[in-house]
Amino acid sequence: MAHYTGPVCRLCRRLGDKLYLKGEKCFSPKCAFERRPFAPGQRSMRRRKVSDRGLQLREKQRGRATYGVLERQFRRYYAEAVRRQGVSGDNLLRILEMRLDNLAYRLGFADSRAQGRQVVLHGHITVNGRKASTPSHVLKVGDVIGWTSRGQRSQYFEIVKEQMASKSVPSWLSVDLENMMGRVMALPEIEEIGAKFSPATIVEYYSR
Ligand code: SF4
Repeated sequence: MAHYTGPVCRLCRRLGDKLYLKGEKCFSPKCAFERRPFAPGQRSMRRRKVSDRGLQLREKQRGRATYGVLERQFRRYYAEAVRRQGVSGDNLLRILEMRLDNLAYRLGFADSRAQGRQVVLHGHITVNGRKASTPSHVLKVGDVIGWTSRGQRSQYFEIVKEQMASKSVPSWLSVDLENMMGRVMALPEIEEIGAKFSPATIVEYYSR
């Protein structure tokens, strides 16, 4: 599945907020948004009045950038969110959170969602005991995420295993440090996700 391959720090600057797309760098003084908290381009320091539609569009772009999803797929997630019972914005956020690349990140198997995507693409991750190769795979409650034998032989695995003990995992996931496996225990609570965008505004954007 295609994904955004351009400079990600530029996305934070363009969308006016830290989106935490680069793992540790985001918490260091090297963060591009900390150093230049304005949009790229010479004219970007000027304040421009943004229409309601423009604000909705920005929220949508923030959502897409946060999870590294291209427009077509993001629109599909919206359609699925509307189809499901309940609040469409909450459904959208939960679908995004249940993506395999995000879960690899949330479990501490990766420092960022982009890295989670790489770990999956490199054939290191299993879902319910079978090798998974699609980062966009949306998991269900009860699914178990682990490592392939190839993944377990990698140097990366050793580094992750060492770091895992100091990482915290959201309450809706459980992790077995001994076996380096994670399980989806429940759908995430919206407050716990801590989204840096408004899913309700994204729903408004698409429903016009
Ligand atoms: Fe955004 Fe992280 Fe880059 Fe800072 S370091 S601009 S938070 S992606």
